[in-house]
Amino acid sequence: MTTDPRAHAADFTPTAYRAVLRATRERYRFSTFSDAPEAGRVYWRHDIDCCMDAACTLARIEADEGVVATYFLNMRSDFLNLHSASNRKLIRTVGSLGHELGLHFDGHAHAIASEADLVTALTADRTALEAITGTPIDAFSFHNPTGDMLAHEDDVIAGMTNAYAPRYFREIGYCSDSNGYWRHRRLLDVIESGAEPTLQVLTHPVFWVFDPPIPPKQRIWRTIEQHADLIKQQYSGATAAGARLNIGDDDAFDEAASLDPATADVIRNLHLLGHRRLVLGLLAGELRRRAHTLDEALPELCAATRRTLATTDRGHVPDADAYAAAVAELLGAMTEAGHAHRSLG
Ligand SMILES: [Zn+2]
Repeated sequence: MTTDPRAHAADFTPTAYRAVLRATRERYRFSTFSDAPEAGRVYWRHDIDCCMDAACTLARIEADEGVVATYFLNMRSDFLNLHSASNRKLIRTVGSLGHELGLHFDGHAHAIASEADLVTALTADRTALEAITGTPIDAFSFHNPTGDMLAHEDDVIAGMTNAYAPRYFREIGYCSDSNGYWRHRRLLDVIESGAEPTLQVLTHPVFWVFDPPIPPKQRIWRTIEQHADLIKQQYSGATAAGARLNIGDDDAFDEAASLDPATADVIRNLHLLGHRRLVLGLLAGELRRRAHTLDEALPELCAATRRTLATTDRGHVPDADAYAAAVAELLGAMTEAGHAHRSLG
């Protein structure tokens, strides 16, 4: 787990989010990108590359606190299908809560060699996004903006306000949570200092929805795993609804079939607790490379399990502490029993 002081992991929970909104509300008027920059305004921007569920969670907190934000949606992300029925519903929910919707534009997904190319690409993505949202899209932000993108400094391009135009970016205060930490300044410090008459704040909701807090990389990994689980459930649900066979459904872990039942049970429990990476690491060969028998592997399995149980966010598992203790105890008993000479491979 990272100990980098810039991580400020405790800043990034729903509760802390509400607190920072309240501190901001004391000093600024929440504005959208159709409002011209003036003293006292804050432009509260979200770039959505990863997860509409997380976006919706923050949108509800903001509505609850009576503030408005702009959600810039990435049409070209490998993480996120904005056309899916579930995401369309979440997008409409965010809009119905009073927030603005904008385009989070990935210029790297297009061949852009000129201003005209940029206008063509922006227009294409805007039209596609408007078909999803059913509302006009009047602002955009660049995804992973490089110098060649930021060189396009016009206030309005392709009929949309440019969130990186100097009047919204370089000429006012700017604070971003990119990669889940405060690379330049900590948001609450900026707000409380009162040093910025006008401010743009960029947050990515996926970093703010885990409580207790976990490091940024784990927030992304956990989100990917949650999405994967959802897709698996949809697949299994569809096979059941269509009265189709779901062949292999009983073998949650094919690899575990080669292990004794107690070990396989531990591994399935770890899976239920969400330790997918540990399980896969164990099963997919890490231990097999390093230890030839279960006897040799078990101490490492136990140590890895206890480490993981000690550091994981278990908020989503009912009775997780009792469950974790039981798993740890079982592993301890297995170590003592020895399971001598059982081959893992
Ligand atoms: Zn982005």
